[in-house]
Amino acid sequence: MTPEELATTVDGLMDGLRADLVRLAEIPSIAFPGFPDGPVQEAHDLVAELLRDAGVPHVERLDLPDTAPVVYGEIPPPDPGAPTVLLYGHYDVQPPGDEKLWRSPPFEPTPIEGDGGGDGGGLRARGIADDKSNVIAHIGMLRAYGGRPPVGVKIVVEGQEEYGSAFDGYPPTDPDRFACDAMVIADLGNLRPGTPTLTTGLRGAAEVVVEVRTLDEPRHSGEFGGAAPDALLVLLKALATLHDVHGDVAVEGLRREEWAGTSYTEEEFRSLAGVREGMPLIGSGGLGERLWSGPAITVIGLDAPGVEHAASAVVPYARAKLNLRFHPRQDPVEARGRLVDHLRSLRPFGVPLTVTPGDTGPGYEAETGGPAYRAALTALKEAWGKEAAYVATGGSIPLVNGLAQAAPGAEVLLFGAQDSMCNLHAPNERVLLSELRDTVVAMGAFVREYAAAARGGDGSRA
Ligand SMILES: [Zn+2]
Repeated sequence: MTPEELATTVDGLMDGLRADLVRLAEIPSIAFPGFPDGPVQEAHDLVAELLRDAGVPHVERLDLPDTAPVVYGEIPPPDPGAPTVLLYGHYDVQPPGDEKLWRSPPFEPTPIEGDGGGDGGGLRARGIADDKSNVIAHIGMLRAYGGRPPVGVKIVVEGQEEYGSAFDGYPPTDPDRFACDAMVIADLGNLRPGTPTLTTGLRGAAEVVVEVRTLDEPRHSGEFGGAAPDALLVLLKALATLHDVHGDVAVEGLRREEWAGTSYTEEEFRSLAGVREGMPLIGSGGLGERLWSGPAITVIGLDAPGVEHAASAVVPYARAKLNLRFHPRQDPVEARGRLVDHLRSLRPFGVPLTVTPGDTGPGYEAETGGPAYRAALTALKEAWGKEAAYVATGGSIPLVNGLAQAAPGAEVLLFGAQDSMCNLHAPNERVLLSELRDTVVAMGAFVREYAAAARGGDGSRA
């Protein structure tokens, strides 16, 4: 299929894909505790049906322990030399949160116009971008080839990504099922609408709790303040050492490098983060370095007396929870250890701190030199008409590591139909139809180019 034929085919499929996206987004498939299971099953069944209808000959339901059912499908390679591509997505969604903040009911997909996304507008609903748009993009690619793409396909659509995914741990236990040459993990999207983007790095994460106990009980601040050690002051002095005067992380041994890819403009970042007028950003260096290839430490919780019920007393106990994000290639236990060592070495006013290491999640950095990467660059350019940009993301996606461990030789590609402005996990989530269309084209072009590379030829002339 030439680029022109692919584009025409996808354009012809868009009405049907949009209708199926609406059907899927009408199902409140929330796999969090306390939400009904029926819609999760219904979304599972619809995805399985859509895959069968798209020509996937083998579709199976995987019931793993303590998780929603996974849709698994396989299309054998068309010839022995063709590579196998694993496609990943998820059909579960975040809870809608406060429905009063939504401009339309979260499970009634509603058209939106413009929204900075070029022509065609988009649709607003919970989960319509994350990640139902990408499930539909995979299906669109299969439809474009009438169920016979030029590569072997394994497709995995899980049902509990947003709440304790089984894909951090399960894939390495079943490596045959996940064996492939490349995988397209479509649970993200472009830096901004219209800018084709490959995500090549994910920061790692770790948590650390630090606590201080100085007195048995609160004591009158008039009678004891000035000599009795104040646990909250001790904790605040400790927390104040984590950053330098510019706001850069001051803990030694946390890896920080210049970010070589693209990033947000400061204006985009301010708008996305909701930074108030006149507020400076913190840290120095490029935004990519601050957000993706350098560390960040955030105080995410603090136990201390609340202001409303504050007594005039020296505080005997205080505690903080810290969230550390670190360079994609730094070892998680090592990174966490740097923060723990830093805190343990402190003696604010001579007082030692109790430091408890918490959970870690590894980062990820993709290899970018292989044939699947080159095919993806060609495909993204074909779809969006521009060279692809490289970005990373500050959040970690543990399943990327789970899948990469199951298929250690496979190239991992991260792209999809979401974009940074689509309000993921927030009220008024939306997807742009132009991005969905271009993603379907990109996936179709990717499998063509990748199959051609495996045969040693040029896909567009095959
Ligand atoms: Zn997602």
